[in-house]
Amino acid sequence: MIDLIVRNGIVVTPDWASVRDVAVEGERIVAIAAPGSLPAESARVIDAAGKVVVPGGVDPHTHLAHGIMSRPEEPGLTLGPEDDTRGMAFGGTTTHIDFCFVRPGDDMRETIEQRTKRWQGNSYVDYAFHVTLGGALPLRTFEQIGEAIQAGFPSFKVFTTNILPIHPKRHQNRIDFGRIHFAMEKIAAAGGILVVHGEDEDVVQFNYERFRAEGRLDGANMHLVHSKLSEKLAFRRTITLAQATGCAVYFVHTSAREGVEAIGEGRAQGLPIYGETLHQYCCFNAEYYQTPRGFCSHTYPSLKFPEDQEALWRGLVSDGLSTLATDEYPTSLEIKLRGRTVEDVTGGNVGAEARLGIAWSEGVVRRGMSPTRFAEITATNAARIFGLYPRKGVIAPGSDADLVLIDPAVDKTLTREDFHVSDYSPWEGWRVSGWPVTTILRGKVIADRGRLLGSAGDGRLASRKIDAALLQRPVC
Ligand SMILES: [Zn+2]
Repeated sequence: MIDLIVRNGIVVTPDWASVRDVAVEGERIVAIAAPGSLPAESARVIDAAGKVVVPGGVDPHTHLAHGIMSRPEEPGLTLGPEDDTRGMAFGGTTTHIDFCFVRPGDDMRETIEQRTKRWQGNSYVDYAFHVTLGGALPLRTFEQIGEAIQAGFPSFKVFTTNILPIHPKRHQNRIDFGRIHFAMEKIAAAGGILVVHGEDEDVVQFNYERFRAEGRLDGANMHLVHSKLSEKLAFRRTITLAQATGCAVYFVHTSAREGVEAIGEGRAQGLPIYGETLHQYCCFNAEYYQTPRGFCSHTYPSLKFPEDQEALWRGLVSDGLSTLATDEYPTSLEIKLRGRTVEDVTGGNVGAEARLGIAWSEGVVRRGMSPTRFAEITATNAARIFGLYPRKGVIAPGSDADLVLIDPAVDKTLTREDFHVSDYSPWEGWRVSGWPVTTILRGKVIADRGRLLGSAGDGRLASRKIDAALLQRPVC
């Protein structure tokens, strides 16, 4: 019995985009058929005429309910899933992947359990977690990697830098390259992937010291502290280890042309290397830091230069980068803008609600990205790389009925009223052509034309297993 038919929309699949009806039974897609050919009977019908139907977005990089340490004397937390995933529902993201942070002394299994519990009943959309390995972890922690992969958590995140200046009240995010090498051996052997924040710690920490000594602490210098060279060094060092171990690697928030080039060279050698970038890196550059709200678009490493924006767009529109994520780090505007120096600007921002709309507008409408490629960078590739595919990330019979209707006729300048999380969005004032209007999570309409219809209990933990081919060569 068909429960729901999404009728007459331009349906975007991995191979084509054309007018079809999509049939849903319970939580799954059961058929994609010629318009009007499905037996409607008692099914609910959503008229999607004139709309583009894309797979529910998969955001592979968020930090909700996460410690804010830009001012170690005033620690805080980013907004939790109960707040931020409302924006995802409105903006067409139906699955997000956050992080469980394992530090020295932590048990990996317990950390995963605690984090999962925090999300239960508190997320409007489905969720999963990467396991972050941070600090001088004892060797026995690495013995838990295989077990975590078996349990459905096959991705592990590391930071090659502490990001912020060393401070006694700040945890060490960074893990040394010896441990990264060791983690890669364990991860490769058990069918996982390593997720890397790649910046060179020596360069970053020395730059803090130097800029302090030279009186150049103004936050507008962020891109010179978290520099292009730093990204290049860390990406290349990581790829050398990946080559030695056979471990698949996913670089988060690629920000520089040098990062895109390193990823491209690794992939050209057949290595399973994947790159992510963020919509704010594509749309803003370091000049924006000098404007009154410029730090709204800051996320570590940093905004870079116009030539970097061009390289990122090339990677997204044609090939070279696999995903567009947010690095979501939702705070109030007050917290976001309170820091003024390279040492205390708050990183990250509220970007999830705008991700699909900006990608459509800037990618498809303004840069000729195909709708199929749009689906790849916003949903399909993240689902494949992190083991959610084909349940998530694709419109196909058997997949979860996670569907988003984009209205290509929307033509407007975004205002505060277009957003539903926190008290600011970096995208206020941005002109868009096309915007998500309806979001369906596993057959349930959770947001429709500005109304929230889902609840915080709708989201579920998604178990993951990565396809072996993807870990052997660059598949997407
Ligand atoms: Zn991040």
